[in-house]
Parts: sequence; C-alpha cells; structure tokens
Amino acid sequence: MTARILVVDDIPANVKLLEARLIAEYFDVMTAADGYQALAICDRNQVDLILLDIMMPGMDGFEVCERLKSNPKTSHIPVVMVTALDQPADRVRGLKAGADDFLTKPVNDLQLIARVKSLLRLKTLSDELRIRAQTAQTMGIDELLRVDTRGEEGGQVMLVDGRANSQERIIKTLKPIADVFAISDAQAALFEASENAFDLVIVNANLDNYDPLRLCSQLRSLERTRFLPILIITEQGDDEMVVRALELGVNDYIIRPVDPNELVARSLTQMRRKHYNDRLRTSVQQTIELAVTDPLTGLSNRRYLDNHINTLFSRSMARGRPLSVLIADIDRFKQINDTYGHDAGDDILREFANRVRSTVRGADLACRFGGEEFVVVMPDTSPDVAATVAERLRAVIETAPFLVKSSGQELNVTASFGISSRTQSIVTPGHLMKQADLALYEAKNAGRNRVVAAA
Ligand code: GH3
Ligand code: MG
Ligand code: MG
Repeated sequence: MTARILVVDDIPANVKLLEARLIAEYFDVMTAADGYQALAICDRNQVDLILLDIMMPGMDGFEVCERLKSNPKTSHIPVVMVTALDQPADRVRGLKAGADDFLTKPVNDLQLIARVKSLLRLKTLSDELRIRAQTAQTMGIDELLRVDTRGEEGGQVMLVDGRANSQERIIKTLKPIADVFAISDAQAALFEASENAFDLVIVNANLDNYDPLRLCSQLRSLERTRFLPILIITEQGDDEMVVRALELGVNDYIIRPVDPNELVARSLTQMRRKHYNDRLRTSVQQTIELAVTDPLTGLSNRRYLDNHINTLFSRSMARGRPLSVLIADIDRFKQINDTYGHDAGDDILREFANRVRSTVRGADLACRFGGEEFVVVMPDTSPDVAATVAERLRAVIETAPFLVKSSGQELNVTASFGISSRTQSIVTPGHLMKQADLALYEAKNAGRNRVVAAA
C-alpha cells in the first residue's frame, strides 16, 4: 500500500517541487494551498502524513497543526513542519503545536525521504496498535490485552560519543526526556547495549579509532540489540555516511551543529517507535496465548494439545523415552449442571482444573480437552508412574468436597481416568490418545471413580 502524503504550502512552486520528489518515490500526493483546505482534506480523506508550511496567509502552520492534533480524527497523523533555516524559534513553536518532525528549506532530497519514511513506519505501527485495541474492545478482551503504558514518552538512552564536552551538552539537552548513559568506547558500548534495556542509542560520529558505521552495523546484527533504534550524528556535508548509515538500518540522523530541539524531537520519535514496537510484540504474544488457552480454567486448550503432543511424541520416539497420557472425565457431570445450575458446573470445572494443575509436575502438559474432559500428557513417564499419578489425582478429587462459590454449597465429585503409554506398536499421538480414551470408557463401564490403564 502506498502512503498518501498531503503537501501544504501557499507558494505553488514549493508545492510542485515537493510533489515531484514524493511522486518519484511512488507516494500518493495530495496538495493544499492553505490551512483551511488542508483541514478539509484531512477531514474527508485518509492522509498518512502531512508536510506543512508555516508562513501562510489566513491560518498559519502552527494553528493548522494545533487543530489537527486536537481533533481525535486527525491527531494520529504525523505532521512535518517545513521551516526556514534562519528561524530556529519556529521549531520550538512547531514542537509545542504538536509537530512530529521538521525539515528546513530548501528541503534536501535525502532528508525529505528519510524523514518521511521514518515517520510512515512509525505510523504503520501505531495504526496497527489502534486496530488491535479496537478489536480487543469489540471482543471484550481489552482487559486481558491491556499493556502497561507508563513511561511511554522518553526512556533510557545510550550515548556513544568520543568527546566529553559534547557528551555533556547532549546529556543536558535530553535531560527532560531521557536518562542518558554516556560512553566513549565503542566496544564497551556494544557490550552495554546488549546487557541493558535501552530505548535508543545515539552514535556521535566522532569516535577515536572506531568506525561509527561499524558500531551501527554490529548493533543491528546482535540478537539482543536488533530492535534498538539508532540515531547517528554526522558532519555537515557527509551525505555519503548518512546514505550508508540508513542502508545499514540506522533509523535517523542529525547533522552537526546539533540543534537541541531537533535532537529532542528525533529522540522522542525513535523512542516512541520502540515503545510501539514493544507493545505490538507483547500484544502478538498475548494474542497467541489467548488462542491456546481455555478461558474458563486457564489451562491449555485442545488446539494447543493437538500441536504440542506431536512434538512430545516425536521427542519420546527419538530418544527412546517413555511417554504417557491420562484422560480424566468428571462422573455424572450433567447431573451437577441439572441440579445446581450451569454456573455451579463452571465452578466445579475451575476447581477441578486447579486440582489437576497442582497434582501434576511442571513438565507435564495439562489441558482442558473439551466439556468436562481433561488431558495430561506426561513426558518421561512410565506406565507405572502414570498409574500412580492418575490414582493420586483420583483421590485428590474424591477426598475433598468441591465448593460452589456462588451458593457456598459443597459437592462430592468423582472422576474416571484412562491412561496409556507409548509402546512399540503405538506410532502416532492419535493412537496413544485413542488407547487412553478406550481405557476411560472401560473405567466408566466398570462403575466410575476409578483408573484403568490401556491393555
Ligand atoms: P459420565 O459420568 O458418563 O461422564 O456422565 P456425564 O454427565 O459427566 O457426561 P455427559 O457427557 O453426558 O455430560 C457432560 C456435560 O458437561 C454435558 C454438558 O452440558 C456439560 N458441560 C460441557 N461443557 C461445560 C461447561 O463449560 N460448563 C458447564 N457448566 N457444563 C459443561
Ligand atoms: Mg463426564
Ligand atoms: Mg464427557
């Protein structure tokens, strides 16, 4: 999908210039000649990024930005202010108005494309998060998928800088938004970055005896720092280094002399991106967990069992180690539901699951297989031991009555058990399960509340 960029400028020649450069990079471009038009376009169209001129008749860029950022419909659209080089105060005002980044006129091609791409990547992430949050809300699981968003702005920065005075300046500049750990030795920096949880690495290309790009490339290739945003500070006119840095996966760059506002803005953008990324990864992780967990009991569900038993079975075959499974089915559970109600039934199922959980070993896989049937897969477990485990569980169920939380009643519950173990003639997990199921059937037929092992 190509991103749609809105270019806002009252001077047609400026609009044409930016439009041509963006179209050359295959972006979809819309244009507006003043602030009112810009707001109207954002209201009616899906816009992914805005390049916004400041000096415009009627409504200036600051006001346009403020209005966009205060409208929930448009507040998520990244805004890049296009400022005059000799007006550093404009940058401060732009940031206060909520701008995400700025470019200085005349706009340099490299900068334009780098900034636009960096902000679009950021927007893709935040869009994905918004969609997930919405889905979670409609599914009523937003509580489950809630992520801690404290400390979302700012964070921990590692500064790799060969000069003490420049370290001091940067630490001071970033103080309002980050704790900065400054270091001048690139080798040590690499070690620190992989040992600590930084949100951003700033590499000042002024290191003694070390190629800053080499450091960047090492940071990109190490497992533990692969996702860490990198911002490089380079010399004026060193376009070649910037191009190579961006190719290596460096996220952004700043040219010396460092404008403090620019440093703050770019650092914030990168840290925000990191936080979005982290949240997305957590959310994917949680979604996967939800997909394989039984919501009533918190045990693994059948989908998980069906997959995982294959792994356990192959491993057991390959290593020549025993593998046993146990199927437990609550006796006359339908009667419990019919007599005490479905909610009471649910209470029993939860308590049953708890007893299963606390009876089996950590290495065993306990699942709710369906309705009132539970399965425990036991790696490295011989038929004898499996029988002992099943008997212990049977007793744990029978001995202590079950509490129905809603009514305070106590019920006696029993369950029947079928167990089976892998043998020479059982060569699939399905066959192993089938044997346990047949044994369970026998246990039921023989009068329930007992353990039967497959022949
Ligand atoms: P048996 O001793 O032969 O196993 O008899 P049973 O009544 O336990 O077996 P049956 O398979 O006839 O009934 C199982 C019941 O479990 C029927 C179904 O309504 C109930 N059930 C299945 N899932 C749930 C659930 O999530 N909550 C509740 N409360 N009941 C459930
Ligand atoms: Mg039953
Ligand atoms: Mg049943």
